[in-house]
Amino acid sequence: MTFKSTILTLYPDMFPGPLGHSLAGRGLERELWSIEACQIRDHATDKHRSVDDTPAGGGAGMVLRADVLASAIDAAAPPDDPRPRLLMSPRGTPFTQARAHELAKGPGAIIVCGRFEGIDQRVIDRRNLEEISVGDYILSGGEMAALTMLDAIVRLIPGVMGNLESADTESFENGLLEHPHYTRPAEFEGMTIPDVLTSGNHKKIAEWRLQKSEELTRDRRPDLWGNYVE
Ligand code: SAH
Repeated sequence: MTFKSTILTLYPDMFPGPLGHSLAGRGLERELWSIEACQIRDHATDKHRSVDDTPAGGGAGMVLRADVLASAIDAAAPPDDPRPRLLMSPRGTPFTQARAHELAKGPGAIIVCGRFEGIDQRVIDRRNLEEISVGDYILSGGEMAALTMLDAIVRLIPGVMGNLESADTESFENGLLEHPHYTRPAEFEGMTIPDVLTSGNHKKIAEWRLQKSEELTRDRRPDLWGNYVE
């Protein structure tokens, strides 16, 4: 087993969800990675099994209780568990392809999925949770964010993707967005495939692809382009 993920969630049935299909699903069957979804609510202590309460200081929504979540984390992962403890959070460090590679090389991850307005700050501090964001928008819970992050990680685990080379030329791997693709038919609604791609000249093809990558990155992502030309 290379990569072990443990998810803390109020919706364990959402896992593995889409990751039970296609390449990730086959990797799961072949035990190249594993996923365990733990129900936070099992650690509630009152007779209503409540996990959330009103925010201190007032305001809208509810907050996940520190005591319940801490006990769920402690049950899922002993203090000496070497895996990073990640909290899906829009306030977190943006998740990147570079981080996906780093995590894919490691022993796995413990992933906490928030709900409601978020979770009590004290459990973030006391259990050393690292906040990670999948983008500048608000989801209704951390589950989809965790699935997105895991999908990006799992496809990098050796053996999960058949064609490793296709991972190297992908967008972000070299700091650029990927060039356009074409396949049969040779003509589609009057449009042909750029001649260079059918020329058989591999040097010219590589040059064309790099040029297209650079154009796309410059036009669409000035942030990436700035880093690339620096
Ligand atoms: N009130 C919070 C948002 C809560 S959304 C705020 O303004 O920052 C509820 C939960 O969804 C969060 O606790 C988090 O676990 C998850 N979530 C929402 N958007 C996310 C994002 N962009 N990246 C990662 N997790 C996200």
